[in-house]
Amino acid sequence: MTSLFSNTSATGLPTVQIHALSAGHFTLPEEQFVYPASTGARKTVPSLAFLIQHKNRTSGKTTRIVFDLGLRRVIERYSEPIQRHLATRRPLTTDPDVVSSLRAGGLTPEDIDFVFYSHVHWDHVGEPRDFPQSAFVVGHGALDVLARKSKSLRGSHSFFESDLLDPARTVELPDPAGKGSEGNTTTTSQFSNTINVQGPWVELEELLPAALDIFRDGSLYIVDAPGHLPGHINLLARTIKEDNSTGWVYLAGDACHDRRILRGEKAISEWLDVHGHVCCIHADRAKADETIERVRDLERKGVEVILAHDVEWEEDAANAKRFFGA
Ligand SMILES: [Zn+2]
Repeated sequence: MTSLFSNTSATGLPTVQIHALSAGHFTLPEEQFVYPASTGARKTVPSLAFLIQHKNRTSGKTTRIVFDLGLRRVIERYSEPIQRHLATRRPLTTDPDVVSSLRAGGLTPEDIDFVFYSHVHWDHVGEPRDFPQSAFVVGHGALDVLARKSKSLRGSHSFFESDLLDPARTVELPDPAGKGSEGNTTTTSQFSNTINVQGPWVELEELLPAALDIFRDGSLYIVDAPGHLPGHINLLARTIKEDNSTGWVYLAGDACHDRRILRGEKAISEWLDVHGHVCCIHADRAKADETIERVRDLERKGVEVILAHDVEWEEDAANAKRFFGA
């Protein structure tokens, strides 16, 4: 039986174009991310953003989505608590940011119809003010995180800006647990002509329990990827590979921070804070482990997985030409 995820030479299937966008680098203390880690070890990683372009076959209309905005170019524009946290993440660079990376390929923020956030941590939200005409899409629960209504978020990395997004241009996806039910169609109606952000969530191949068919043609899915932060979402995209075959790319956001965890060489780290509480970079460790197992399954099925902080992918010379404008 052929799996949905198989690479195929079949032409004519709906696809999207994917390019990576360089959107800043920062430095992680390994002990908070992987276990085991050497004391004091640090690793500089990218915060990758992605441009996804879809051409409607009937209308010929191209829709452009940017997945994550990476780091904010002017870090003084982050809130004070985030700026203090950034002091622990140096060295850090914000040039090029996502806007200059788009410009390198001839696009401006005005060309971007939608910004999807994998989640609302500082290293992914970038500078929404640079995209005054784009609509923003976040996973279920992300708005509560921004409004600081979410409980059980502990750890120095959990600082959020309640005024990050313009409510008039932001849509939160429906609850994946309410599969089959439609989301709030009042708030989503302004988007639903172009993309499906109201649901229903569907199961894919008995592997991904909740996915949204964004263009209603099977070329791009938002995938519920719980564990890291409420509202954490990934993207699964059918695209044309270099050899002209059709294959899948999975943009895993912060489902996993390090390829050594995917390969089973390291585990997710946990540590004690000054109050003796167990901390983890993932808000829900058990769910994060389940999500990682699904990502491993996808990779075993031939899907190309790219993590947001995928330094190995970025450093692979073969991927240099996959950055927009390269
Ligand atoms: Zn991150």
